[in-house]
Amino acid sequence: MTSRVKEWPGHELRASDLLEGEVTVARFRPDAKYAWSAGEAMSRFLEELQRGRFIARACKGCGRVLFPPRMFCEQCFRPTDAWVHLRDTGIIETFSISYLDKDARRIPDPILVGVVSLDDASPNMGLMHYFGEMTKDEIRIGMRVKAVWRPPEERRGSVLDIAYFRPLREGDG
Ligand SMILES: [Zn+2]
Repeated sequence: MTSRVKEWPGHELRASDLLEGEVTVARFRPDAKYAWSAGEAMSRFLEELQRGRFIARACKGCGRVLFPPRMFCEQCFRPTDAWVHLRDTGIIETFSISYLDKDARRIPDPILVGVVSLDDASPNMGLMHYFGEMTKDEIRIGMRVKAVWRPPEERRGSVLDIAYFRPLREGDG
């Protein structure tokens, strides 16, 4: 035995009730403040970015170097073992030529974005970033690249402390 509710009890509010003062209205602007912890591994990762360095976690179980660092190895089901610094060079794993900016507005000159695999990290540990000092016709999957760091005073402990990745040149470390 079912019965449909045809009308809810009480008084249904219309927008005009609020605007015309038919009901009591209170307005307030909440002064909400949020703090959020990035966690042990990500906090250290971000601190090291501010110093212009990449850091990862090594797992003795599987021998992998986890980047970005994680305190727990999802393959071995055990805590990871040690911090390791990585060189800031790698290869382009995949990329996109985007004629939309980050606010989805059309732009005449495309931005190049994609995934970099760092030389010292294990496979399938990519970092998403921008590419620069190359054109859309020059960029290639497998291209060797190096991070271009922002000046120390501009770094904020963010992935954007790297301006972009540029092609590796002779003489790069
Ligand atoms: Zn492992």
